[in-house]
Amino acid sequence: MDVKALFKMTYGIFVAGTEYYGKLSGCVINTAVQVTATPERVAVTMMKANYTTQQIKQKGSLAVSILQEDVPLSLIESFGMRSSRDCDKFDDHVFKTDSFGNPYLPDTAAYLSLEIEHMLDLGTHYMFICAVKEAEVLSDAAPLSYAGYRARKAGAKQIKEKQEEKPKVQYVCPICHYVYDGDIPFEELPDDYICPICSQPKSVFTAQTI
Ligand code: FE
Repeated sequence: MDVKALFKMTYGIFVAGTEYYGKLSGCVINTAVQVTATPERVAVTMMKANYTTQQIKQKGSLAVSILQEDVPLSLIESFGMRSSRDCDKFDDHVFKTDSFGNPYLPDTAAYLSLEIEHMLDLGTHYMFICAVKEAEVLSDAAPLSYAGYRARKAGAKQIKEKQEEKPKVQYVCPICHYVYDGDIPFEELPDDYICPICSQPKSVFTAQTI
């Protein structure tokens, strides 16, 4: 079996949010999918160990924000890189609440308000089969796919690496154009270093950006 075939499946990317006894929690998920149309049902699968999962299980409902293609990566990171156990992730964002009091992000493609009807124990994960109680399109923006998110993340990493790349400098004798290429960095050479070709002192070498 080639498990890489599973990587060809398409997914969206969402923020699942819930409010339980006044405590807001949320996290990024890629495992929400519509399973029936009449009535409208959506399955959401989440890791048991995740704090938000436990809160959703207790509450019995959640709101799902469907992220748009141009969502700031920082938003995904702020919901994905830390636990709601330690902070209120919604503090940093504009949010609204559905009729269950569950938080969703209004600056996204759409949101769904979900009430859990069934729960499957999948060992490491729970699958919540939910009735769609409210739904609203919030913008014309296309939804972000999980593959699109990964591509954007890889692109952002490349740009960052490029920005952090230091320009390379070479030291050249201005008289004979000898380019220093020794193992010791030029700056660390003794002051009495001289050009091996024309014997000019170290002090006359010029730095050139390459
Ligand atoms: Fe020289």
